[in-house]
Amino acid sequence: MRVLLVEDEPTLAAQLAQALGEAGYAVDRADNGRDAWFQGGVETYDAVVLDLGLPVLDGLSVLQRWRREGMNAPVLILTARDQWHDKVAGIDAGADDYLTKPFHTEELLARLRALIRRASGLASAVLRCGPLVLDTRSGHVSVDGQAVALTGHEYRLLAYLMHRPNALVSRTDLTEHLYAHDHDRDSNTIEVFVARLRKKLPPGLIDTVRGLGYRLNAPAGG
Ligand code: CA
Repeated sequence: MRVLLVEDEPTLAAQLAQALGEAGYAVDRADNGRDAWFQGGVETYDAVVLDLGLPVLDGLSVLQRWRREGMNAPVLILTARDQWHDKVAGIDAGADDYLTKPFHTEELLARLRALIRRASGLASAVLRCGPLVLDTRSGHVSVDGQAVALTGHEYRLLAYLMHRPNALVSRTDLTEHLYAHDHDRDSNTIEVFVARLRKKLPPGLIDTVRGLGYRLNAPAGG
């Protein structure tokens, strides 16, 4: 999963970027509204954290432009305390959720997980696929109750597939959602990660759809 973090306050931005990275997200950052608007328009994100008080172009205008232009990633806005009208304006402009500063990082992470789940039509924080279980809260993965140790890349790949059970996911989708903007993207490395992941999972779980991409085989009812 890949997120865009838009926050101009350097200490908070650094702290949130670190927490998001530790939670398994690929993170891109912007510290002003114009860069945020541009990046959100050309890159693909699973969720966006958007501070409303931004230099150059305010967050509300950024959000309005994005929605007008058809950008449909879930957006969590950050508002200043006591600015209730900002929350109303933000939600009306197309925000999916809000947090009031100051907040606990854990709450931001929980809200982001919920937004990403809802965007995938999933209700539970624990994703299941036959014997495979992925807990998005703890990042814990198990097969038949046995813990499976994954690298950060493998976890991101598996989480992305598990949010899209039985759907065809192209290599391009994967490279766009697994790497931050500045990362060297090579779709061949996706094949390497899929191969490594397969070795750690029960056989037959991840299909290769020749020339198109991959599909996670989920039994009916999870
Ligand atoms: Ca700000």
